[in-house]
Amino acid sequence: MRVPVLTYHSNNISGNDYASNDHVALAADLGTISRLGLRIVPLHQVVAALLGEAEPATVERAVALSFDDGSWFDWHDLDHPICGPQRGFAGILREHAAQAATAVHATSFVIVSPLARDELDRTCLIGRSWWGDDWWLPAQREGLLAVENHSWDHNHHTLTRTAQRDGRKGSFSAIDSHEDADAQIRQAADWLDARLAPHHASLFAYPYGQANDYLVREYFPHHTAQHRVRAAFGTEPAPVESISPRWNLPRYVCGQHWRSGVELERLLTQGAGRW
Ligand SMILES: [Zn+2]
Repeated sequence: MRVPVLTYHSNNISGNDYASNDHVALAADLGTISRLGLRIVPLHQVVAALLGEAEPATVERAVALSFDDGSWFDWHDLDHPICGPQRGFAGILREHAAQAATAVHATSFVIVSPLARDELDRTCLIGRSWWGDDWWLPAQREGLLAVENHSWDHNHHTLTRTAQRDGRKGSFSAIDSHEDADAQIRQAADWLDARLAPHHASLFAYPYGQANDYLVREYFPHHTAQHRVRAAFGTEPAPVESISPRWNLPRYVCGQHWRSGVELERLLTQGAGRW
């Protein structure tokens, strides 16, 4: 298997062209994926193939999509104060599915703590309550987006306090004890499961793409009964292959690992050469 996982941030809007707006990039990229004859499969299907629970053929000539941070532009359209009206990611996916008569799916890795999202809305956005969770359940029910775990509070540097034992913020590398890992990962999984039943959160994406030895070698593999996570994703720029590390799977990030339609096509066709 060889499946590129493409990652977008719906908060990335500083203009209205590909390089400055992940909504513009996503819409263009869906066209590129279609034109290249690639399918879009759910990320959990990639994990099932990786874990030997599904045939590799189920993810052949496919890509998967993931969205990070889970502001509600993943779901809602918005009127941006500088850049004007923007189609939310969900609307972009639905339009593409209708036009191309194809199945689409993406996984939203959300920041779970309501208090953290409220403070992030004021410190990273402009305080218009654009980081709510009212869309999680409808998104999960529609089957267009899976809502998964991007930690309790991202250990984000703009928060007054995070669930890190001695106040080291701004890096997920600091989550290196059982107590901190449980507060960031298991607590977030519990919260998601309580709200999204019968869905069970089972995928994790490292905030800032930062894994560490404790999480990869100890917490994730040896405490599965508590956190129930089946695979964790970082941001190493590579496709997911059968030999990829289960607790730090690679993903490509828009704006970081590709910056134009041409660059994405190169990334996807280089992969295709080895299928
Ligand atoms: Zn993030």
